[in-house]
Amino acid sequence: MPENRLKIYNSLSSKKEAFEPLSPPFVGLYVCGPTVYNEVHLGNVRTFITFDIVYRYLKFLGYKVRYVRNITDVGHLVDDADAGEDKIEKRARLEKIEPMEIVQKYTNSFHDVTKLFNLISPSIEPTASGHIIEQIEMIQQIIKNGYAYEINGSVYFDVKKYAKKYNYGELSGRKLDELIENTREELEGGTDKKFFADFALWKKASENTIMKWPSPWGIGVPGWHLECSVMSTKYLGKSFDIHGGGMDLKFPHHECEIAQSVGSGNEHPVKYWMHGNMLTVNGTKMSKSLGNSFLPLELIAGSHPLLEKGYSPMVVKFFFLQANYRSTVDFSNEALQAAEKGYARMMTAIETLNKIIPSATTSFNIDTLINKTNESMNDDFNTPVTIANLFDGVKIINNIKSEKATITAEDLTKLKALYNNFIFDIFGLQKESSTAKNDYLDDIMNVIMNIRNEAKASKNWALSDLIRDELKNLNITIQDSKDGSNWTVEN
Ligand code: AMP
Ligand code: ZN
Repeated sequence: MPENRLKIYNSLSSKKEAFEPLSPPFVGLYVCGPTVYNEVHLGNVRTFITFDIVYRYLKFLGYKVRYVRNITDVGHLVDDADAGEDKIEKRARLEKIEPMEIVQKYTNSFHDVTKLFNLISPSIEPTASGHIIEQIEMIQQIIKNGYAYEINGSVYFDVKKYAKKYNYGELSGRKLDELIENTREELEGGTDKKFFADFALWKKASENTIMKWPSPWGIGVPGWHLECSVMSTKYLGKSFDIHGGGMDLKFPHHECEIAQSVGSGNEHPVKYWMHGNMLTVNGTKMSKSLGNSFLPLELIAGSHPLLEKGYSPMVVKFFFLQANYRSTVDFSNEALQAAEKGYARMMTAIETLNKIIPSATTSFNIDTLINKTNESMNDDFNTPVTIANLFDGVKIINNIKSEKATITAEDLTKLKALYNNFIFDIFGLQKESSTAKNDYLDDIMNVIMNIRNEAKASKNWALSDLIRDELKNLNITIQDSKDGSNWTVEN
């Protein structure tokens, strides 16, 4: 069994606990994935980065991790309570394509984003629509145990009854009598459930619903919370080690997951609940519906009004890592520009490290540096302190370069391993910065635009049109106006 002193902040107990997996060296990690009805925004990306690092660090410690991150492609998520229309189907109607095309399109685009940020693919990426039979079976089990009831072709979880025996609210700390009626209505639209806090396990489908399935209660769709209970149980067992997701999922989603698993006869499903905090803009959660979100590609191109310029995915990742995953991070251009400088300083130091010539002695305590870096990461994945420790090492590297310090060959190997492990393997940062690429593209485009201007000046319309058309094939659009020509990269 891998030896470690990792402590994890468990949202269930609200304290840091020593990490003791249920069946070491195996670790089960489940993370709520995206709902694929639109592009993921940078806030979503923060949460996926957080758990990518959890996954990478557990593997680094020697655990054999099965990482399951689902795709929510069905689950009666209602945008507009009055219309009662599923988010994916609504989008399909707007884009005039099949709901499954919407699902495919935004799953692909999510995968592109994960590659951009160098996130490792999960071991299993199950879809809700691929697990309808298992969802029906879990509902049947919950009904059999007396914690759900059917009304007019829909099935609801009986929260009041469950709360008589179990602690509904144990994760979020909410008390049943304090729950606001609106919370559930928003998610489910019009409903005929018995008690406001009851939530749908199965919803009867309307005539117009396209994605729907037969069940013992008629044609319908599963409730949103159910898929995660079903898929985590199927792939990680009735009890597993870590369940992650954004803080906004703690209630109702995760609270309902616990109730469903326990209500279906499982034990408490999760040993460590982890929640990543939100990316905010001027203190407000970044969210598509609030109009304060931007997409990763807008971030890189700097093409959103909130952005003074473009930032590379690695700089943004570095920026996120300089905050604790349990703290909110407020977006700001100044902070991103500071992260850009810090990231460049770190990368330059790593280049310097690779060129260092060893000496006969080491003039500093390398074990102190290594130990404190391991310790900070073991302290509930404390990435900001870990980065600060690595910056202490940067000072040492620069001192060695300017001959104010020395290092032996053996210690140099250890120091290189420290930076390789943390910067590349655990944080998943990459050397290449696309800011550099953007600057390079700017330079090349300046040359091309000059040539085209010359062509236009000499009335060589064939050449100027050829340049425009060839660039169009590369998704670069040229706009000509009386003030000159501009170019933009289309996403
Ligand atoms: P969704 O597709 O809305 O279910 O979100 C996917 C993941 O992103 C969930 O774990 C959410 O908690 C998380 N998330 C949504 N908004 C933000 C935000 N502003 N900052 C950080 N994580 C977020
Ligand atoms: Zn979930």
